[in-house]
Amino acid sequence: MGVVGGGQLARMMGDDAHDVGVELTVLVTAADDSAVETADHVLLGAADDESALRRLIETSDVVTFDHELIDLDMLVRLEEQGVVFRPSPRALRYSVDKAVQREEFTAAGFPVPYCHVIRSDADLSVLDDWSQMHQNPPVLKAARGGYDGRGVLFPVDDTDAMQLARELLARGAVVAEERVTLLSEVAQLVVRSVHGEVIAYPLVTTLQSRGMCAEVQFPADLDEDVQAQARELSAKIASHIGLVGVMAVELFVTPRGLLINELALRPHNSGHWTIEGTATSQFANHLRAVTGQELGASTALCAAAVMVNVVGADTPGSLESARATAGVTVHDYGKSWRPGRKLAHVTAVGDDVAALHVRTWVSARAYGTNTREAS
Ligand code: ADP
Repeated sequence: MGVVGGGQLARMMGDDAHDVGVELTVLVTAADDSAVETADHVLLGAADDESALRRLIETSDVVTFDHELIDLDMLVRLEEQGVVFRPSPRALRYSVDKAVQREEFTAAGFPVPYCHVIRSDADLSVLDDWSQMHQNPPVLKAARGGYDGRGVLFPVDDTDAMQLARELLARGAVVAEERVTLLSEVAQLVVRSVHGEVIAYPLVTTLQSRGMCAEVQFPADLDEDVQAQARELSAKIASHIGLVGVMAVELFVTPRGLLINELALRPHNSGHWTIEGTATSQFANHLRAVTGQELGASTALCAAAVMVNVVGADTPGSLESARATAGVTVHDYGKSWRPGRKLAHVTAVGDDVAALHVRTWVSARAYGTNTREAS
């Protein structure tokens, strides 16, 4: 099978590929990509370059994705010619385009923040009295192309909102949405097979630092009935969009209940802990699902788990010291050091979130991370 895009997700798919009987070809833009080390075959080229994609298709019975920065129209055209993409371009629209997701989920009755899509100058008038109507200035999001908090703006007042929305609009549609009160943020990972079977992973809490996920904790600190709501809602979404593969549903926990933030139709940062923490990792289950196999169990093998991202600090620390920390597993992505770059993650599994939290951060700091513990 083929993976469009390299990076750590494709690398970790490669770690599990042979266990699930899959031969992996990755399409990457550089010969030193993180995914090269674990792939069976490597092709050089960009995700939106049709000739490169065609080379990947020729050698693969099914093609999946490592990221969302893809040309959907091109995928639809290729699908019409018989190429099997899993997930399909139809499903991918919901993760590639925040405007499509918000509009279609609002229409389908799924819980999302109140929002308005701005596609033209005339639509900007919706921002005129926003604060008066919604208590706060809006959050503005580029419909396409943002990730890790890039493309998400928090204007200080309506005048600022108007100015920022104009700037975003020059590059494409903008979602203006209410600023919700966040009690916490959680992520529900599910996997759906080609036969429509959906399995949910245990819910996790995600802790953000500067718009980027810094830490993930299992179990999520929510009552079982809210956890059940997250599972049921995510399973419904999976069926609604015709998902095949793994999907992470990022959810806001608010005083009015769970609200959908965004979807990722691929293995997700919030699921890295499943490598050590559950019976089948998210990577193995994604490969199983997209190659038409039965799914593996998602049962937790531990009472608690913590995962911390290592995002390059200004000066490198030491991978050896990070690995020397007792009771953690360091997953190094084999990337060259660059401040602000996601370089590795550290996981600890056990009984007590507080103890695991301390250990993982000791290790991540020894490696040299610029992320901070959420206060
Ligand atoms: P990205 O696509 O770059 O990951 P998100 O849409 O997930 O961006 O937004 C990044 C972060 O901004 C979220 O994790 C959350 O903390 C905050 N955020 C996003 N939307 C809202 C909102 N409507 N109200 C309050 N905070 C928000």
